Amino acid sequence: MTSLLDLEVDRSLRPHSLACRLCGQSRAAAAVAICEECLGPLEPVYDPDRSLPDARAIAARPQSLWRYREWLPFEGEPTLSLDTGFTPLVESPALARRLGVARLWVKNDSVSHPSLSFKDRVVSTALNAARALGLDTVGCASTGNLANAVAAQAARAGFPAWIFIPHDLELGKVVGTAVYGPHLVRVRGTYDDVNRLCSQAADRFGWGLVNINLRSYYGEGSKTVAFEIAEQLGWRLPSAVVAPMAGGSLVTKLGKGFGEFLQAGLVSGAAPRLYGAQAAGCAPIVRLVQSGGDTVEPVIPNTVARSIAIGNPADGRFAAAAIRGSGGWATAVPDPDLVNGIRILAETTGIFTETAGGATVAGAFALAREGRLRADDEVVLCITGNGLKTVEALQGVLPEAPIIAPRIRELEALHARDL
Ligand SMILES: *Cc1c(COP(=O)(O)O)cnc(C)c1O
Ligand SMILES: [Zn+2]
Repeated sequence: MTSLLDLEVDRSLRPHSLACRLCGQSRAAAAVAICEECLGPLEPVYDPDRSLPDARAIAARPQSLWRYREWLPFEGEPTLSLDTGFTPLVESPALARRLGVARLWVKNDSVSHPSLSFKDRVVSTALNAARALGLDTVGCASTGNLANAVAAQAARAGFPAWIFIPHDLELGKVVGTAVYGPHLVRVRGTYDDVNRLCSQAADRFGWGLVNINLRSYYGEGSKTVAFEIAEQLGWRLPSAVVAPMAGGSLVTKLGKGFGEFLQAGLVSGAAPRLYGAQAAGCAPIVRLVQSGGDTVEPVIPNTVARSIAIGNPADGRFAAAAIRGSGGWATAVPDPDLVNGIRILAETTGIFTETAGGATVAGAFALAREGRLRADDEVVLCITGNGLKTVEALQGVLPEAPIIAPRIRELEALHARDL
């Protein structure tokens, strides 16, 4: 007998179960991101027979990353951060001309809601997982943007947050975290030291640290960058995508996301070639791609691009494999070049990005010079963060504005000099 209760759909949020990417070992949904058998990363398991929406159904949904919910790791209704995602895809003919490619678009996550970086996406999925798993405190180890995103989204969700950053981050990143009222801890050391401490803290206190024990759910949020690029290009794919790399999650998940949309028949043709950019002062993934090896050699970071300064990247080998498997490449850019990249994007496209975006732009120029980006390419640059958070990088670089008295004579003199 079927009772009325049985017919009611359970709409509460349930995270997908997990399986090891390396050995296949599976386990129930939990705040655990590492396989107990082989220490490989756990990933959410999707039902291959689940029903998928078509392009029209997706296009009719609200403009957030949840419009791709069938490819996000939950059953039921998400309750938190429902307004993140669907950032602009901006075409830049001027930058395409400078690079010598057919067309170029900027995926502009520098205006991501609510905290102005692509980290809002991964925090949206991780916080929904935290709530569904019954965790009462969240946090992260961060190079800056993740701290901003966790602090902002935890505040409005009502989670206490413990946030750990290197002691010497940019002022904008520190203030843009502290303002939301989390427990903010500055750790004497590099990001990699911060990360190690946080792994211990997750075990010790039972917290949900979004990029540590919730990493399996966190990473899936990055796929939505790929989904949005495909939809915003009119349900087709670019020929090349350039993205900055820190832990290597974004690039890995771009490959996964494009692959999932191809498999679903939402787009057709060749998957884009993936290109990763790092600062020369912290380029362990670039080195791995270029050497063809399969284990990351950790480095001690030394670059102004703090947001991507991860010396021992958790997803480094997967990022390198995604890049090489796509027919792409990786490039390391010196700090002066990435600072120049910030200026070029601003002057050609009217978008002010932070240091990581500067690495993407400078990386694209290096790839074009090497003939890897070509005249017939349709290129998307992933601009992942906002320049107002890292104004230090431009200190002493931009011309100083003249100061004049409020008199038309002085302006006339200035104007005559500038002609
Ligand atoms: C974290 C971050 C990245 C790269 O992230 P991974 O997924 O760890 O490689 C890129 N850009 C910005 C601005 C970031 O904050
Ligand atoms: Zn395993």
